[in-house]
Amino acid sequence: MLKTPELSIFDEVNLFFDDAADRLDLNDGLREMLKRPWRELLVQVPVRMDSGQVQVFSGSRVQHNAARGPYKGGVRYHPQADIDEVRALASLMTWKTALVDIPYGGAKGGVQVDPRLLSMSELNRLTRRYTQNIEHLIGPNRDIPAPDMGTNAQTMAWMMDAYGQLHGHTPAIVTGKPVEMGGSLGRESATGRGVAYLLQEAAKDLGLNTDGAKIAVQGFGNVGSWAARLIHDNGCRIIAVSSIDGGLHNAAGLDIARLQRYQEQTGGIQGFDGGGPISNRDLLELECDVLIPAAIDNVITEDNANKIKAHVILEAANHPITPEADRILSGGGVTILPDILVNAGGVIVSYFEWTQNLQEFRWEESRVNQELKKTILKAYHEVWTRSTKQKITHRQASFEIGVQRVARAVELRGFV
Ligand code: NAD
Repeated sequence: MLKTPELSIFDEVNLFFDDAADRLDLNDGLREMLKRPWRELLVQVPVRMDSGQVQVFSGSRVQHNAARGPYKGGVRYHPQADIDEVRALASLMTWKTALVDIPYGGAKGGVQVDPRLLSMSELNRLTRRYTQNIEHLIGPNRDIPAPDMGTNAQTMAWMMDAYGQLHGHTPAIVTGKPVEMGGSLGRESATGRGVAYLLQEAAKDLGLNTDGAKIAVQGFGNVGSWAARLIHDNGCRIIAVSSIDGGLHNAAGLDIARLQRYQEQTGGIQGFDGGGPISNRDLLELECDVLIPAAIDNVITEDNANKIKAHVILEAANHPITPEADRILSGGGVTILPDILVNAGGVIVSYFEWTQNLQEFRWEESRVNQELKKTILKAYHEVWTRSTKQKITHRQASFEIGVQRVARAVELRGFV
């Protein structure tokens, strides 16, 4: 698992895959088939801006694997969401949906845009054009998009409407929709809630007293803010959070509910009077019990891995730790629960939303949360048991379980 500087993020994810494939003794043909995306589409997304000028953005949809069910994965609006990043995120979806044992494959979409720089009407037009351009690849039994970084329930409502104009009313085409449009109760909080459930459970296995435990969270968007709020409600101290513009630190613990209200009112966390400023870099290196990266990828690398002081890391973001940093941290005794387990709450409740749409039925929020807890903790216990028995890391155990399930489905379908 040696990282060279030329490795792309997709190559990095495939190092984790190769490591599992070696231990599972997969043959070369199967390995190649599982590694590479099954289908990729690059699209241009021209948008008439409010100024009257046309600006052309680059978009993509990568369908990585559908051996276990329809392709499933979010759509990211971010300047760095190029084809390589989207490939990496699509493959992580394949191993994630298999690990938590829901009947989906893996996919991802992206548009290289900074959504903060566009007005709502520009974002609406961009989303519609992107949807029209990938419309022939997606479908409620083919590929079901969802929100990811830079997109949200409103984006999904626009996607559903654009798809519906061509195909008729199809709520099951996207998940993470507004509840008024057929979204599931509990979907918005699901990823953060999954993180909170896992921390409670892992604390028991790790002998960590969560009462007053010090937690640092990078990112205060959908995932980070819900994780911080629910973990705070469980009695932990959230000593730092951040956004792209910087973070807030308070060793005695931040008032997360008040901070959330402040963010809703002002659009950001900067200027909040309940904590002092801290950079994103320093936040990662804080003295704390648990570190939760919940923003972007590759934030912990070989350059700062030795400076991390947390004993436990929960990867709420996708691929926040490079393979080399993973080796340094794991070698140093840090417990890392990996992204494909930790942030699976989102896709688990997306699955519940999809099934509710297909049945034209709505579950109560308590049922959604209960089923989420059951599903994510089942996967957690499988990971913990395999990791303990085989003396491998939780990431290695998670990839082994995911890869093994997808490999079995490919064999059963008679592909190889
Ligand atoms: P979001 O857009 O709601 O929030 C992202 C947060 O990260 C914001 O606070 C933003 O300011 C911050 N951020 C962006 N760039 C940053 C940078 N360079 N440095 C520091 N902070 C930065 O996104 P989200 O939906 O919360 O997603 C966060 C992560 O969780 C992503 O890795 C995403 O793939 C993953 N994830 C999200 C879901 C979901 O349901 N939304 C599900 C699974 C995984």
